[in-house]
Amino acid sequence: MNAGGDNIDPREIAKFEALASRWWDRESEFKALHDINPLRANYIDGFSPVAGKRLLDVGCGGGILTEAMARRGAAVTGIDKGEAPLAVARIHQLETGLDVEYRDCTAEQLAAESPASFDVVCCLEMLEHVPDPGAVVAACASLCKPGGDLYFSTINRNPKSWLFAVVGGEYVLGLLPKGTHEYIKFIKPSEMGRWIRAAGIQLQHITGMLYNPLSKNYRLDESNVSVNYLAHAVKPPL
Ligand code: SAH
Repeated sequence: MNAGGDNIDPREIAKFEALASRWWDRESEFKALHDINPLRANYIDGFSPVAGKRLLDVGCGGGILTEAMARRGAAVTGIDKGEAPLAVARIHQLETGLDVEYRDCTAEQLAAESPASFDVVCCLEMLEHVPDPGAVVAACASLCKPGGDLYFSTINRNPKSWLFAVVGGEYVLGLLPKGTHEYIKFIKPSEMGRWIRAAGIQLQHITGMLYNPLSKNYRLDESNVSVNYLAHAVKPPL
């Protein structure tokens, strides 16, 4: 927790503030997020068709997933604690005119205000940037309606993920700016599973998101969660 009692790491927020103007540039530091976006949007829409549903995107940044889900017909709320990413998201929304409400708050703050309000809650590539990821998972669970769906994605913690995500991604291939990720904050699927159970929700499925540096393509692979992975959980109906 920071001095204000919020589950926010100001140094992490500052990293995204500094890069925010390039969020929608597909060849920028955010290229990887653009490249994986169709995969993760299809994954979410496949398990829980989002048209007509209320969807929350926690740590939405400049709105790459947020807008993709709105395009598929969801009424989306995007929340983030970075002022610049939110400003970029709002400007981009002016161009696209999509149905998104952007708010400057944490998942914990929104959960205190409006629990059980969303059919689908997404929290992608964000948990590895907060001091207490388990508390974010719990807040997401509280924000989800009973019977609703939740999606979390992050990076596994092992020598291979260090090599691929930090050394390969940031230093060799230059896919991400150096210092984007801190190895110590990566999350093992077992830890994610523990936080999910502690939050009273149920893990349904987990799949790896693999990058092939030769073809420069990403794909989902259920048999390999060693680096990037995406998890689907449900909140039991009442
Ligand atoms: N989820 C988006 C962006 C990931 S980048 C996507 O996958 O496309 C991580 C984002 O999390 C950044 O925009 C950063 O500002 C935000 N963030 C970090 N800590 C946060 C917190 N405690 N509450 C809300 N947003 C946070």
